[in-house]
Amino acid sequence: MQAWVLCWAALFSIMVPSIVTAEKPFSFKETPGKLPKEVVPTDYSIRIVPKIDQFTFTGTETVKLNVRSPVHQLVLNSLELKIEAASVDGKDLPASAIKTDKEKELLTLTLPLKLAQGDHTLALRFSGKINQQGQGLFYMRYQEQGTGVPKVMLGTQFEATDARRFFPCWDEPVFRARFQLSAVVPENWLAVSNMPIESERKITEGKEVRFAATPPMSSYLNVFVAGELDLIEARSDSTQVRVIATKGKAELGRYALEATAQILHYYNDYFGVPYPLPKLDQIALPGGFGGAMENWGGITYYESALLFDPKNSSTETKQNIYEVIAHEVAHMWFGDLVTMAWWDNLWLNEGFASWMGTKCTAHFNPQWEVWLRRNLPRDPSRRIGIAKEQAMEGDSRSTTHAIQQRIATEAEANSAFDDITYKKGLSFLRMLESFLGEDVFRDGIRGYTAAHEYSNTTTADLWNALSEASKKPVGDIAAGWTEQPGFPVVTVKRETDGKVRLTQKRFTVNFKNAPPLEWKIPLTYLVIGQAPATLLMTGKTEILENIPADRAVKLNVKGAGNYRVEYDEPSWSLLLQAVPTLGVEDRVNLLSDAWALVQADRAPASRYFQLAQKLPALTEIAEREQIINVLAFINGLLARNPEREKFQRYARSLLRPTFEILGWEPKQGEPSTAANLRASLISALGDLNDPEIIAGCRERFEKYLANAASLAPDLRPAVFAVVCRYADEKTWTKLHQLGLATTSIEEKQNYYNALGCVTDPKFVKKTLAIALTDELPTSRATSLVPKVARDSGHPDIAWEFARTNMKALLAKIDAAGANRYAPSLFTFFSDDLRADELKTYAKNNLPPASALEVAKVVDEVQFRSEFKKRLVTQLNTWLDHHSDAASAKERPPWPTNH
Ligand SMILES: [Zn+2]
Repeated sequence: MQAWVLCWAALFSIMVPSIVTAEKPFSFKETPGKLPKEVVPTDYSIRIVPKIDQFTFTGTETVKLNVRSPVHQLVLNSLELKIEAASVDGKDLPASAIKTDKEKELLTLTLPLKLAQGDHTLALRFSGKINQQGQGLFYMRYQEQGTGVPKVMLGTQFEATDARRFFPCWDEPVFRARFQLSAVVPENWLAVSNMPIESERKITEGKEVRFAATPPMSSYLNVFVAGELDLIEARSDSTQVRVIATKGKAELGRYALEATAQILHYYNDYFGVPYPLPKLDQIALPGGFGGAMENWGGITYYESALLFDPKNSSTETKQNIYEVIAHEVAHMWFGDLVTMAWWDNLWLNEGFASWMGTKCTAHFNPQWEVWLRRNLPRDPSRRIGIAKEQAMEGDSRSTTHAIQQRIATEAEANSAFDDITYKKGLSFLRMLESFLGEDVFRDGIRGYTAAHEYSNTTTADLWNALSEASKKPVGDIAAGWTEQPGFPVVTVKRETDGKVRLTQKRFTVNFKNAPPLEWKIPLTYLVIGQAPATLLMTGKTEILENIPADRAVKLNVKGAGNYRVEYDEPSWSLLLQAVPTLGVEDRVNLLSDAWALVQADRAPASRYFQLAQKLPALTEIAEREQIINVLAFINGLLARNPEREKFQRYARSLLRPTFEILGWEPKQGEPSTAANLRASLISALGDLNDPEIIAGCRERFEKYLANAASLAPDLRPAVFAVVCRYADEKTWTKLHQLGLATTSIEEKQNYYNALGCVTDPKFVKKTLAIALTDELPTSRATSLVPKVARDSGHPDIAWEFARTNMKALLAKIDAAGANRYAPSLFTFFSDDLRADELKTYAKNNLPPASALEVAKVVDEVQFRSEFKKRLVTQLNTWLDHHSDAASAKERPPWPTNH
């Protein structure tokens, strides 16, 4: 699943005791979970009849059971379903034998006689509701392409624990079974599920569609989508690939179709086991949820993550589509063919798909600099899904947790979809791959896939396969990274006689008295002018010998490792001189570490700016975006602070020279990253109150109103956002009207995102009110409030609005999102009193399941409060001496070829 939580604060959780214990390989009997393991379902046959006008449905199912030891009861999952009848082996159970427990999400059937070992059949009749939010079976309202006529369609979302809202089932990933679905839909609808349609017949209510049975798989991977849909198709190797969208939009799936064919072929080779189903559908949904979900054979995407309009979509959208597809298709193997045994190993699915997807995207699109851009710190204004730095920021706090974490309840399973699971997982795998070597790593993955197909695994199974391929103790190296929280900082100290002393220590931010931990670190280092070297650091200290006194040493080559590096003064001075000889990956790594050391109070802000100023105004996107993101973070922190204007002037002077090189208009033959960077700079400079940029955006917006083609799609989100930030009534209304009128989900999002940036409190309130209307799909409507909290500079107004309307807002949010919603709105405060307010609010209003999320945000607010005070003092000193230090004449000489 790709959860696009709009707020970056997707972290939570308490400290896990730092005892590293080796985990065991997969065993069905020892897998955690609530359901007894004596009864195992093998085949489901399910028939669903939706009543679309009432948003309810009825269903029947028969389940073949294998009873392994005699039982008195059948215990399975069911939630918000009314069980109308039940029978076992053809004998009806009395109503008194049927018990549902809403709290535990269980259905218990008490049997008149003990059920003997062997095969049996359970039959159930039930009814349920079609939800407004994206969980279980849900409906989506949308405007039809071309006509604008309001329509409705159906979709499902089951991960982590919502298949039980659609049909009673053994809804834990270890209970693999074959699922055969039938559904009744209107005659002009297309129905899609995991497998191809086996038969179709007309009936009085419309038509009944019967899908072929799936191979054995986990219940959360089922899918059902139906509506007035169109499709386009192609073949990739022996697989039929289709893109399915609402009527009139399928052709916009052309790019996704081509990308899917390319990606599928790459993975068929990489995994060594070909994609096992006859077809793969990529399904665009106009609402319901905000991300994508890897249902086997029928992947669902929020529409703008799949459809690309060459005339109106941005380069950013195109790159995002490719990455999301690459992530989801990787799940067809990692997640679907081989599934984690329990949610404590969710990272096996998500960390792996994130790593594999990025690797595949980088392979086919090297010009996008995906590894590097995924390494950037969080972008407070625009981008979502930036990986490594985000995970490291969260992982340095007191509220972090190990990649592998204990999961006891359904609510905890839903909370497991966080940055640590996805992004630290990705970072660690990348570090491990570069340590073991690409080919050895792939051989290990091939062995793992072949050994565990159609089955479940734990992390230990993966390490065993990689150890076998590499002949290295992978489990031993990995344990510190996946079974304990946090990560190290390696300090570099020059000693006499060519010795450099390395010492590791846990790296923390706003976390006093953190339990000390140690890691086995696959280190890489570079002595300038020599080839890179590797070293497995297994103890607290390590000595590098024979380092010439006048040569700089750079650790963490290309930033591929998941650790920080702190250089002593002599090493840092040498590095600053050597910066021009380093590649962009290493420069971004130095910037990221310098900023993290400032946050951790291990270095003053001047260390970061000293380095940033040393870099000339070139257009390497990852390097510039690193700087943009840091400046935007500080700018947000200084809202309503008297120092802000002085800071903004300085920040503009750092960014302006690059914008001068790129200019407003796209140039023939420029790389696609130039378009990304131009948009980032316009949006950043606009936020930094650059009068020329603001005027330029206004002028271009007026022209766009007269002729939309006059404004390049890449610039539209940035131009709309800047225009709306400083909007008057007429402009706000115009943007709102444009958003209401368009049937393109991407364009709609551009307009409403812009509305979220408005700063005049009068219009901030008008934007917030939209969250309660039906103008946007439910997930997007509710994320407008955190968007305003973050981008308007008025988190107070956003919180006040949400507090007043919480019930209506939560009705639109799924289980995973609900626990995070209220806390996420506090993230952008930097005042200790707000941390206290959140604690009080949580005590009185939030369920225990949100406690971890609350702790995370309280920590963030307290950190911001402390950091702001520290930063203001340090910035004052720095700015007094460097108010325009980034001007061209003060830049160091720079070689032109690197
Ligand atoms: Zn995923």
